[in-house]
Parts: sequence; structure tokens; C-alpha cells
Amino acid sequence: MSSDTSTADILSVPTDFAQAYVFDLDGTIYLGDQLLPGAKRMIEELRRRRIPVRFLSNNPTKDPEQYVEKLTKLGLPTDIEDICNTVVTTTRWLKENHPNAKLFPVAEEPLKRALRKAGFTLTDDPSEIDIVIASYDRTFDYHKLQVAFDAMWFYKRAFLIQTNPDHFCPFPGGRGEPDCAAVVAAIEACTQMKSQVNLGKPSPIMLAEALQGLDVEVSRCVMVGDRLQTDIQMALDTNMGSACVLTGEATPDDIRALDDAHHPTYVLDRVDQLIPASAWRELGWTEDND
Ligand SMILES: [Mg+2]
Repeated sequence: MSSDTSTADILSVPTDFAQAYVFDLDGTIYLGDQLLPGAKRMIEELRRRRIPVRFLSNNPTKDPEQYVEKLTKLGLPTDIEDICNTVVTTTRWLKENHPNAKLFPVAEEPLKRALRKAGFTLTDDPSEIDIVIASYDRTFDYHKLQVAFDAMWFYKRAFLIQTNPDHFCPFPGGRGEPDCAAVVAAIEACTQMKSQVNLGKPSPIMLAEALQGLDVEVSRCVMVGDRLQTDIQMALDTNMGSACVLTGEATPDDIRALDDAHHPTYVLDRVDQLIPASAWRELGWTEDND
């Protein structure tokens, strides 16, 4: 968790607007069911300036529609085209690369629904499975592990992919929930076979999906997020600008420990600091009046 004490030595804020912004959601725009300070007015200001805004999530337990609903309920009405999560990237990647594969998704309903809708056959018959998909699945159990094991190790037929690499999903108050990495680890441990593809951040597949249809230079766009290993790493790997917000996972000490090669372009203690100080003055913003 971020602390409020002395972050002055690590903060660095942009002095200009970017061509487009890609935002992580949890820990960046909201935490749990609360928008983070300044998030609403910042998004509204970017939209007012017609600067494209996209939202990215590694979480495959929700449909893009559910994000639209959540953001709208929180006071930020959003089009479905502006949302990209690992339900979208996983379905599209499979469609493009393995359109006829029989799938065993270790997953909750939203991903399964999207795969079925895209025309895929889902099966738990290990002699038929071509691809096992590990994901953030709160219904993961021994039976699912056995099916994956049989498909990969016994029948030597299926290979493993994963929706995202996160170890845990952060909750308010510093708690969290085991995420996809735990499911991947269980399957890898018993099969001794490695996951072949990751469809979430920091994979560039995620960024390409998010910026689809925008006429922008990647190097002049900014990825904004609270996780160094996913949000910021994806930006570094794709030569995109990056802003780490200290409202989620990354702590001031995490930032201080980074070498130059892993340092984000900007470090913000609130997300509306993405708006340059000159615009704050024009708009009459202060940190107390968000
Ligand atoms: Mg986050």
C-alpha cells in the first residue's frame, strides 16, 4: 500500500498531454467500489479535449459489459469499445491462431460465455482437449486440475495458455485474492509443462488490442497503472510512456528500488496529476476540490 509520508523525492508529473491514455482500472481508476481521488474529473477533462481514453484490465472474471456497467454506476459512462480485458484478448487470440481448437477453460462464466459465443467447443474430456486455458478462477478445484493434467500429461495432446500473469488481485484494505498465477503454477507443477502464452499485461498483445483503431504513435501514448510488473512493464516493453500511480500496489519504496531501465516515465500520487499543472491552473483545480 502507498503511504502518505514523503513521496516528494519520487514524484514526477507530465508537463504535456499525451496522444492517448490507456488506464488500468483496479488501483488506478477505482479501488473496490470507490473511484480514486481526481479520477472522474481527469477522465472527463481528457474526453472534453477529445484525447482517446482506453481502459484495460487483466481480470477475466468480468465481461467488458460489466466494466461498462461498473464505470457508468461510478459516474463515468463508458462505451464498450473503450474497454479491453483478458476475456477479449484471449477470445481474439484463440480465434486468430487456433480457430478450431477444443478448449478446456479453467475459468469462470464470463470467459466461457465469450468463447462459446465465438464458436469454440468447450470440453472437459481430456482425450479431446487441444488447449487448456488457465485463468483467475475462484471455482478452481482438484477435478479441474485432474482434467488439465490428463489432457496435457497423460494424453500428451493439450498445451497450456494463461489469461494473465497476476499473483493476486488487490482488494481494499490491503487484502487480496489468489489470481491466475496460482492456477498456472498448479498445472505447471504437476505436468512439468510451461504455459506457452500470456494474453494479459505485460503482453504487447494486450496493448495492440487496446490501441486498435486509434491513429496514434505508441511512443506518444501513456499507460497508467499501479503495478510495476504488468502495467509499467508493458509500457517499457513497447516503448510507450508510463505513469505509475501510488494508489494501488506499487509503494514509494518499490519505486526507489527500481533501476533506470525499469523506472516509469512518471510517478503520481493521484491520477489527476496526469493533467499538466498549466491546465490545473486554467481549470481552477486543487487537490481539495476534486
Ligand atoms: Mg491495478
